[in-house]
Amino acid sequence: MKLYNLKDPKEEVGFLQAVQLGLGKKQGLFFPKKLPILDHNTLDHLINMNFIDRSTQILSYFLNDEISLSNLKLIVKNSFSFQKPILKSITKNISCLELFHGPTLAFKDFGARFMAQILLFLNTKNKPMTILTATSGDTGAAVAHAFYKMKNIQVVILYPKGKISTLQEKLFCTLGHNVHTISINGSFDDCQNLVKKSFNDSLLNKKMHLTSANSINISRLLAQICYYFEAFSLTPIQHQKNLIISVPCGNFGNLTAGLLAKSLGLPIKNFIAATNSNNTVPNFLKNGVWEPKPTISTISNAMDISQPNNWPRVKELFLRKKWNLKTLKFGSVSEKQTKKTLKELYNLNYISEPHASIAYHLLKKKIKKNDFGLFLGTAHPSKFQTVVEKILKIDLSIPKILYMHNKKKILSHTLESDFQQLKHFLLKNL
Ligand SMILES: *Cc1c(COP(=O)(O)O)cnc(C)c1O
Repeated sequence: MKLYNLKDPKEEVGFLQAVQLGLGKKQGLFFPKKLPILDHNTLDHLINMNFIDRSTQILSYFLNDEISLSNLKLIVKNSFSFQKPILKSITKNISCLELFHGPTLAFKDFGARFMAQILLFLNTKNKPMTILTATSGDTGAAVAHAFYKMKNIQVVILYPKGKISTLQEKLFCTLGHNVHTISINGSFDDCQNLVKKSFNDSLLNKKMHLTSANSINISRLLAQICYYFEAFSLTPIQHQKNLIISVPCGNFGNLTAGLLAKSLGLPIKNFIAATNSNNTVPNFLKNGVWEPKPTISTISNAMDISQPNNWPRVKELFLRKKWNLKTLKFGSVSEKQTKKTLKELYNLNYISEPHASIAYHLLKKKIKKNDFGLFLGTAHPSKFQTVVEKILKIDLSIPKILYMHNKKKILSHTLESDFQQLKHFLLKNL
């Protein structure tokens, strides 16, 4: 698969190169040159396959010129070697697609583990590299665990100090070995900017062979296409024609993947882009003005992003497919409403967490009589234990993996949101 740089379309790279580069020149995102389209029979056939075989097939439409089918199957098997997504019925016409049954209890496991397996596949020449990434909560754990103890790979993770939940932090800042964690006195957007600056620094790049594991990395997005097909195959046949999917959005990688699934031909009727009070995209879709405001901290902290990195890809896809951006549904949900919705779901016998609650609220508001709605369960409620327990006034049972990490010591360093300080630290310590 060839990809072009959205900021400099003359720059073209292959998939494997794009995975290693992360970003192109001028920090542009890579975007597929050809968008495969599947015919009706192929789609029918795919829907009936099992998750691993189907995912291999879907990814091969993009990657077959660079990775053989047998190698790809192995990569997919090793990446998705955990409980596949589950559909939980909430009301007559709304279900939650739970994507959080992987090793770090968030949907980020799909993309991060696929990316790690691709780099492992590439790493036959024993070339050392450094994965540098920013996290608003769940990417950190997924990436750290996916690359943990992998030969020749160092992992550096930046996160906003005090702005992620304790259990989230414990899950990736206690590992050590090749995983280095740095808490930054700033917001997620500050962390993301530090990552971008590092990629622009030739000395750092030369010394450390930087690669990003954020959802700017195309490998993560391709992996996520796979569970939208699973969502469709789990939907009762009589509802498949009227499927609406509500996505809790932060960096908009998850939504991009869903739209890519639709572009392949998967007949999803519509998507809802759901955000918290960090509403740059909803405002843009309403007024046509792109005006990121300072990031606001919320209880749905993985979505506390005011400059969503993947938005240019969403725009490009609409342009390429000649879809009208006005057909994309959207909304922004307040903190108060998020809490209220969490309680509402609890009264429907479902323990959720703030991110999925936001998606559910907008789905309920926008769904039509004959539609069938899915909202994406992006993280396990126990990752947000304190908040969920406080709002619902219950005790949550904590899965073993969280419990184990919770007892360990946090190994992070703290730095200011200052590029020179970070550069100095990386050159000295890695
Ligand atoms: C990362 C994350 C999101 C946002 O996903 P994007 O792909 O960045 O839009 C939503 N919910 C949870 C729990 C997350 O970890």
